[in-house]
Amino acid sequence: MLKMFAVSFALLAFIPQGCTAKKELKPDLSKKVWAWMSGKTTMTEQEWESMFGKASEAGIDAIILECHGGYPEVLGDSTSFRDSAAIKIIEIALPYAQKHNIELHAWIWTTNRTEKSLRNAHPEWYQVNAQGESCLDIKLYNREHYRWLCPSRPEALEYMKERIAELASIEGLAGIHLDFIRYPDAILPYGLHESRGVLQDKVYPLWDFCYCEVCRSNFKTQTGIDPVELEDPTSNNEWMQYRWDVLSSFASELCKEIKAHGKVATAAVFASPEESKKLVRQDWANFRNIDILFPMIYHKFYNWEDPMVETATREGVEALKAAGNPAALCSGLFVGHVPKDRIPEFFGYAKNGGSQGVCLFSLEGINRNEGYWEALGSAITEFKRL
Ligand SMILES: [Zn+2]
Repeated sequence: MLKMFAVSFALLAFIPQGCTAKKELKPDLSKKVWAWMSGKTTMTEQEWESMFGKASEAGIDAIILECHGGYPEVLGDSTSFRDSAAIKIIEIALPYAQKHNIELHAWIWTTNRTEKSLRNAHPEWYQVNAQGESCLDIKLYNREHYRWLCPSRPEALEYMKERIAELASIEGLAGIHLDFIRYPDAILPYGLHESRGVLQDKVYPLWDFCYCEVCRSNFKTQTGIDPVELEDPTSNNEWMQYRWDVLSSFASELCKEIKAHGKVATAAVFASPEESKKLVRQDWANFRNIDILFPMIYHKFYNWEDPMVETATREGVEALKAAGNPAALCSGLFVGHVPKDRIPEFFGYAKNGGSQGVCLFSLEGINRNEGYWEALGSAITEFKRL
């Protein structure tokens, strides 16, 4: 309860001066509705107005706006590290957010960084698999954007802190949202194996990262073992723990940077704590300095039945409690997996599992789906009334 108060207080602190009392009437976290949305510098005024207007009308309280994704825009000097496009996207969006009384959070990809300026300048900061191949030299899962920074590299951490600092300095922005704060998939979510054409009954060396020089050397100093010599690396608890810990530390340091700028720190994470550790080496219950974790409970990608949304939510809440982590949890729902005539049922799964509010992926998904805005508006009204 204390934490909820602290978060609400932090949000109130960022209401621009001169705003009416209406802005202070944001719902508490338990009734708050969030949505992810993709932003581009090329969007027209009509497009911004339409998205924020519809979101506001449906009762959405906060938008998490992607400003640096897998194919980031480049403005100006292509060798500059300053993320001018991300900054511009947020600056363009802010007046629409303020007009429609929507709280705005800047969504960035974190360990998964594809910008060419960085890849060219510091290829050594990128992760290496158990076969000794850099993720810059292979197209993992046939995805151009699968290029991953190593969380053991202090220089990579500094780089990300700088990117966060330049966004977090924007007045009126409520928070920074870290996405892709993980390793590449050692195993893809189970429902994706067939469509991606992979056989992953266990972890194979091609998909097992990070065996860069720094990680190998750190682990050898700690344990006397060079991880490339492990016959079954996944069964070595110390090696798994090493990777969980360096990623948690990376995330915690970035959240500390966000908080230092007085912004709300949040992250999108995999669906359940145990699956996250296993599939992407993400021990998110141990991310510190963070206000809210958004597990992406996109259940059909895991071949889960619908009520698993509630189970996964509960597992997350319990894992945070067990880790002594005061962060709140808000379940992320995939619009394509939530039929428009059953939205209240899914909100109920999240709520019953202990979620603080709900978050929808994505506004574009809603927009593409005939009749979804209306159904969502009714569902949100009901959710906030109960
Ligand atoms: Zn490494």
